[in-house]
Amino acid sequence: MRLAIVSPCYNEQEVLRESAERLTELLRTLIQKQKISSDSYILYVNDGSKDDTWKMIKSLCSTSHHIKGISLVDNVGHQCAIMAGMMTVKKECDAVITIDCDLQDDLNAIEEMIDRYKDGNDVVYGVKISRKADSLAKRSMAVCFYKLQSHLGVKAVYNHADFRLLSNRALSYLSLYQERNLYLRGIIPFMGCKSATVNDVLSKRVGGHSKYTLKKMLTLATDGITSFSARPLHFVFGLGVFFLFITLFIFVYVLFSLSTHHIVPGWTSLMLSVWFIGSMVLLSIGIVGEYIGKIYIEVKQRPLYHIEEFLNGEESEEKGWKK
Ligand code: UDP
Ligand code: MG
Repeated sequence: MRLAIVSPCYNEQEVLRESAERLTELLRTLIQKQKISSDSYILYVNDGSKDDTWKMIKSLCSTSHHIKGISLVDNVGHQCAIMAGMMTVKKECDAVITIDCDLQDDLNAIEEMIDRYKDGNDVVYGVKISRKADSLAKRSMAVCFYKLQSHLGVKAVYNHADFRLLSNRALSYLSLYQERNLYLRGIIPFMGCKSATVNDVLSKRVGGHSKYTLKKMLTLATDGITSFSARPLHFVFGLGVFFLFITLFIFVYVLFSLSTHHIVPGWTSLMLSVWFIGSMVLLSIGIVGEYIGKIYIEVKQRPLYHIEEFLNGEESEEKGWKK
């Protein structure tokens, strides 16, 4: 089995050397144990770094045949950098593992990921069982986000980031998703491949500092919800219907008050118009939202299905198809 390890790097000159040493050492051990073939490799993706990251990747490539690199023209962000790496190795591996180059994820989980792949899983997720290395604020924000996501019906794996293994077949399915607002943690479970999980104990960065600014984190969180759930739009429509019902009660109340109390002239018409127009506005926005939700799904042009096996005479082929 030929393994490719894809690792995105953005201004990571402080960690690259150690990262390369530890990952190469791991590859050698796995080759010795005959878990992976000797042509397995690590692909570093330089995501438009401003420091010496690319220079270092070039020098690492010249010292080890297990290390390769690609450099992106500009900083496109973690998700796109991983996608660039995965699409580059798609035809040159049997499976790919994506891991951040700061080595916060548990390297010991990699061997288990390979075993789960050999058991027939196309996707193996690294699930964080301990996030003590993250700050309390980050941990709390993550928990709230995962809960919100699950309430909104997004199919994502709890406490899993982008440390995962994908088989070559899963990669070919993934290549059919052409969306720009990339949220791999949603797309990959959405593909529905046979999957397993392994435990990932998060540790502190080996050097440098987090490259995920609050802005980048919020953009990712927004993508994580809006790319997979139209529920916020349905909610507006539901609110419109709810307020229309309230308007009926207000109507009865206003008529009742009209016959029993002394009422200031103009109050009746004002009350009724405020509630009626308000609910109509919400309902109209909701209807427009329902259509926008449909258009949004259409423009993504996600594949309708993936064929797992194709029996053609004596042979069995595996293929991803796009309608
Ligand atoms: N990264 C990237 N592009 C970016 C930001 C981050 O390629 O625009 C990489 C970064 O070099 C690291 C990984 O994505 O390998 C995760 O980033 P980081 O460790 O800073 O995030 P955190 O673990 O703090 O959430
Ligand atoms: Mg990190």
